Amino acid sequence: MSAVNDDLRARYETAFMPNYGVPPLALARGEGSRVWDADGNAYLDLIAGIAVSSLGHGHPALVEAVTAQVTALAHTSNLFLNEPEVRLAEKLRELLDADGRVFLCNSGTEANEAALKLAIKYGKSNGRSCFVAAENGFHGRSMGALSLTGKASIREPFGPYALDVRFVPYGDAAALKAAVTDECAAVFLEPTQGEAGVVPPPDGYFAAAREICDATGALLVADEIQSAIGRTGTWFAFRNELPDATPDILTLAKGLGGGLPIGACVAFGRHGEIFAKGDHGSTFGGNPVGAAAALAVIETIEKDGLLDHVTAVGERLAGGIAAIGHPLLAGLRGRGLWRGLVLTEARSGAVEAAARSAGFLVNALQPDAVRLAPPLILTHEQAQSFVDALPAILDAASEKEG
Ligand SMILES: *Cc1c(COP(=O)(O)O)cnc(C)c1O
Repeated sequence: MSAVNDDLRARYETAFMPNYGVPPLALARGEGSRVWDADGNAYLDLIAGIAVSSLGHGHPALVEAVTAQVTALAHTSNLFLNEPEVRLAEKLRELLDADGRVFLCNSGTEANEAALKLAIKYGKSNGRSCFVAAENGFHGRSMGALSLTGKASIREPFGPYALDVRFVPYGDAAALKAAVTDECAAVFLEPTQGEAGVVPPPDGYFAAAREICDATGALLVADEIQSAIGRTGTWFAFRNELPDATPDILTLAKGLGGGLPIGACVAFGRHGEIFAKGDHGSTFGGNPVGAAAALAVIETIEKDGLLDHVTAVGERLAGGIAAIGHPLLAGLRGRGLWRGLVLTEARSGAVEAAARSAGFLVNALQPDAVRLAPPLILTHEQAQSFVDALPAILDAASEKEG
């Protein structure tokens, strides 16, 4: 059944810019980890709107929090403060167990722009003007965040850029050490590269980055926009790498709002005071509805023990997939409910399409990598249903052209 989908896709193609192409489905509703398309076909959602819908769809805690807040007051602007934003900032400080100061915004890109402006101001007062970031990294599409984005095919068409950014191979501590000179203001790194294909660094890489930054005085900025708020079974993925330290600046978005737009930039210690009054701002940032959503996400993860759940279901999923011997399957990367299925051939598009036909939404992230980033509430049975279906999905993808 595809009549309504086809009609919406044709209208989308006419009305929208072609930057996304035309997505394959129109989604109409969701419940838990399941979604339905506009023609009423059901799918198990193993991508959660790119690691965003952390509580799945229609979670009562999120619905109640957002409904109550939008009824009471939907917006204040930064001319006034509101209690949900204060509670959220306090909650983030508590989870980080560190003296962090928060800036709230509406997306990951904006969180990185705030981090970049902090780093630029830090650099200006210390005679430091260069930045270091990783090849294949992703930090967003605005001109500042894009200038830090290591994937040349999305960065280069829009250059030149105002900032001096040096790119190093991700995971290579010696290359990082060589690049981070005394002129360097900040190093931007993902604790695991998301858009590059869910690529974790070798053990010790992030700790080495912390040491290199300490030795030179460059700020370490951890872009946890995709990796935080339970995705890897911990609140923050940097904790897997830095048990006793923090980055200097941390950026968050995606899963934080559980589907409502919100981003956050947290700066630790004295870096929390880099911005003076008037240095930065956002009309919607600190919006009470977004803050209420994020509080509901965090409180539900705590109350329902979802961090341990993510670890357990993630291991079930990874163990099940690892036990499948299939010529198209090379292996699996990642941690918790954030995995990259690595293929032996560039057939991720065919895998995504075959999975969709079998009732599973996954994401062809790289030509040879498929991303799984399901809701954190995915059940063991749902994870197992995908493991059971995967051999036939891989068979179908192997048969298709391309
Ligand atoms: C998604 C993402 C961004 C950009 O976030 P938007 O909300 O799309 O602006 C930046 N960094 C990382 C690591 C991301 O995964």
